[in-house]
Amino acid sequence: MTKQIYCGKKAIGGGAPITVQSMTNVDSHDEEALLRQIGELAAVGCDIVRIAIPDMEAARTLGRVRRKTEMPLVADIHFDHRLAIAAIENGADKIRINPGNIGSREKVRQVVEAAKAHQIPIRVGVNSGSLEKDILEKNGGVTAEGLAESALRSLALIEDMDFDDLAVSLKSSDVRMNCQAHRIVAAKTTHPIHIGITEAGTVQRGKVKSAVGIGALLMEGIGDTLRVSLTADPVEEVRYGIQILEAAGLRYPKVNLISCPTCGRTKVDLQGLAEEAERRLADADIRHGLTVAIMGCAVNGPGEAREADYGIAGGQGKGVIFAKGQLLLTVPEEELIDQLMKVMEEHERIIR
Ligand code: SF4
Repeated sequence: MTKQIYCGKKAIGGGAPITVQSMTNVDSHDEEALLRQIGELAAVGCDIVRIAIPDMEAARTLGRVRRKTEMPLVADIHFDHRLAIAAIENGADKIRINPGNIGSREKVRQVVEAAKAHQIPIRVGVNSGSLEKDILEKNGGVTAEGLAESALRSLALIEDMDFDDLAVSLKSSDVRMNCQAHRIVAAKTTHPIHIGITEAGTVQRGKVKSAVGIGALLMEGIGDTLRVSLTADPVEEVRYGIQILEAAGLRYPKVNLISCPTCGRTKVDLQGLAEEAERRLADADIRHGLTVAIMGCAVNGPGEAREADYGIAGGQGKGVIFAKGQLLLTVPEEELIDQLMKVMEEHERIIR
């Protein structure tokens, strides 16, 4: 198990629930825009928000934002150690640096001393696009081994400064390389690991790539916090991050909705029914953890619908509704979702 660190009030590692992060993409000097976007991210379940700090004014803005939100904030710093120190002094809950581009051991030491004084962790983040020259030469280019070596070297540099409050990330846009590099690092460190596929792309391709890359690591027990990186609204990153955790069985969705893929036997508008059920269940006042099955026909439908807490099996322009394994009603197609919601509300009220 990894060690545990804290980013603000959020625990990372050491068996804590895996957190979902994102990064603001509004102007880091615009306090109002930052607060608005942090609010949007919080509304969809984001646990931790990272903000790019490109200059001193951004570090001061971070300080003002820090005082107006509960969200744990990570300052993302490149190249200039003075920005890292300023971000720490302005209240960052964690900083992300790549020691390889901070300039010198002495500059890294100054950042570490500031983090120590303010008792905040440092995420060491290495990226396939910025590996050290000697590592690139030794491995003949960017490799998983090189990426892992760079991350472990950066961790060792800071550990030698008597600082242990660390997390690590190593990111490549190559899913296989990313996975292999994480395996190497996970076997050699107990620092919490921030996982993700960097520059995964636009929503469509990026979410698949992230699901495969992040999902593969999660299935191996690697990863304490994650970010899905998409060329899109950061809100989408959080939504997909949560969905990946749910699909991996690491978070319980409010409703586990099962629906069949439809086939030539389907005689109801199953896509419409499933989408309506998903929409209405998301807003319904019901307890978490229910399984609801929306099935197209009488072949697999009744079995799945009976196994679920609640379910529908479609027929010819009509369908049957199951609750807790019992067939309750046969209703016309257009009334199926209304009746399902009614049945669920009544049953769940009784259970409560
Ligand atoms: Fe086809 Fe019925 Fe299976 Fe749905 S449940 S895919 S309609 S056989």
